[in-house]
This record gives sequence, C-alpha cells and structure tokens, in this order.
Amino acid sequence: MIKINVAEIKKRLVGKKDFSYELKPAELNITEADLPLTGTVTVKGTISNAGDVLLLEAMVEAMVNRTCGRCLKAFTGKSTAEVLEKFYPASAENIENDAFIYESDIVDLMEPIRESLLLAEPLQALCRIDCQGLCPVCGADRNKGDCGCDTTTVDPRLAALKQFIKN
Ligand SMILES: [Zn+2]
Ligand SMILES: [Zn+2]
Repeated sequence: MIKINVAEIKKRLVGKKDFSYELKPAELNITEADLPLTGTVTVKGTISNAGDVLLLEAMVEAMVNRTCGRCLKAFTGKSTAEVLEKFYPASAENIENDAFIYESDIVDLMEPIRESLLLAEPLQALCRIDCQGLCPVCGADRNKGDCGCDTTTVDPRLAALKQFIKN
C-alpha cells in the first residue's frame, strides 16, 4: 500500500496535499511478467478535496526493458503515465464505475499508479521512431547499413495467389 492520510485535506474546502515517491516495482505489485521495470518508479502529484470526492492527479515515470518490435533489439525506454482518478468515501452512494474508494481517511495510491503504468506501455515498442527493422530477405539489421538485398520483388506466395485469383 502507498498510503496517504487525507483527514487534514478533507477538513478544508480547497484542501490539497502534494506528494512525491520513489517506489520499487514490488511496492506497486508489478512483477517482471507484468512489466519488466528497471530501477525505481517516480511518482509526483497531488490529492485534493473536490467536494464529494478526492481528486488524484499524478505523473508517473519509470524505465522499462523493452524489445524493439521491428529490429528485435533489447533496449531501455522511458515510460510516462498520467494519473487522473477520483476517490470516493466507501460510504458514498452512486459511486462511479471504475472509481476508487477509500476508508478511514486513508487513500491507497497503489492501484491507480500500477494501472496507469501498465496501460501506458505500448503494444509495439520501437528502439527509435525511425527504426529500419530487419531485412525480410537476409534478416540483417537495416539500422546498421544497407545489406543490398532486393526487397522490392513480390513475395512468391503472393505472386501465386495473384495468379490464382486471375484464373
Ligand atoms: Zn529497432
Ligand atoms: Zn538483406
């Protein structure tokens, strides 16, 4: 749990509390299989009194061990996630779907931070935006130079298919 006591900010109309954490992946219940993080996770944000609910706003930053989706190279990339969530008191009525709840003036930031990091991870990571990927003919890393293969020729399977459609 990453606990914040909100008793003080609830007493004030515009109550607000800043926080900043350096967290180990285990503290966020993030395993290697969930997301291969390296180093600590930085979290900076505020929790504020918004009347019926508490508003959590935070920026999360972490370094992630990734594999490039084009050239298959292993690299470390920075992940940034924005958290914007509402916390309702457990006793509240009409709690919004997927909103978080808290009890006894203690808010647990673990779940929203964890979720935001997992959701921020792209399905296909690239080692760099203009990664040239691997040559489909010889498998060489095209970022390291031109291998000289002719990649404009039509795939023979595709040519056969075209012939088939024509007939
Ligand atoms: Zn790459
Ligand atoms: Zn090649």
